[in-house]
Amino acid sequence: MASTICGWCGDRTHMAMVTEPEQLPGHLAYVYTAAFQCSNEACHRLSIATVSRSGAYGSPKRDMARDGELSWQPTHIPRQEFSDVPEQIANAAVEAHACLAIRACRGAVALARAVLEATAKDKGITSGPLVTKIDEMYERNLIRDITRELAHEIREGGNEIAHGDLADEPMPPEDAEAIVALMDEILEEVYQGPARMLALKKSRLEREQRNAEKKALAQKGA
Ligand SMILES: [Zn+2]
Repeated sequence: MASTICGWCGDRTHMAMVTEPEQLPGHLAYVYTAAFQCSNEACHRLSIATVSRSGAYGSPKRDMARDGELSWQPTHIPRQEFSDVPEQIANAAVEAHACLAIRACRGAVALARAVLEATAKDKGITSGPLVTKIDEMYERNLIRDITRELAHEIREGGNEIAHGDLADEPMPPEDAEAIVALMDEILEEVYQGPARMLALKKSRLEREQRNAEKKALAQKGA
């Protein structure tokens, strides 16, 4: 039994191996593949696991079922919610996460950059490189200082979140993850947080209004 998040139903489930592991021909490494079945009662769909190893399995069936390094097809792509973000920007942000989930790191970073550019533009910040725009968001109290520092830290780390030829840049997954996390944080601070605060405020004002009306009615009746 291997445990993973099923790419079909999205549940964390046990996957039962339903075919013998097949060792693929023509590779320098030892590549094994096998079909597994999701144990979720409502799913039971098949997924394909593949693993590339430097050495052969002693007992392929037993060893592969216990291997924590299997990669799965289909891959589970977490669907992020950006309910208070303008739709176009939110759609690009969801796609940035989808890219990250399949390790399309340059795609993830290109989309995260586009999301940040569009966010700045939406707030009327249109000139200068992206890092300057992020500074400007801080100046205008749209984001916290720590978030601005995070953007600079990513940049100091050698990752040009602002510009550069993506094709020439090394893009390890952890860098792409950091940039997408920065995108999430900025969307949270610019849109999601303020929307939550306004919703709370609105419900408080409505409550106060209802109470005032009740009181006025009661006084009338008295
Ligand atoms: Zn499933």
